[in-house]
Amino acid sequence: MKLLVLLLVLLFGVWLWRRGRRQADAQTDQAQRRALPMVRCAHCQLHLPGQDAVVGRQGQYCSAAHRREAEGT
Ligand SMILES: [Zn+2]
Repeated sequence: MKLLVLLLVLLFGVWLWRRGRRQADAQTDQAQRRALPMVRCAHCQLHLPGQDAVVGRQGQYCSAAHRREAEGT
């Protein structure tokens, strides 16, 4: 009887451990989905998050000044 209880506790522990791992994996996936792709400024080659980039006709830039310098507009 003691052995059965021990086995149940062990199984419960493994179940908890696996459940925790699945949640950790799900959180990692969400974090990776949230992470924005990095883009490169077509003028100075600086890498920056896509949401901060200034989009021009010839590519993406780190700032409006670089877009002006590269495209002359
Ligand atoms: Zn730039």
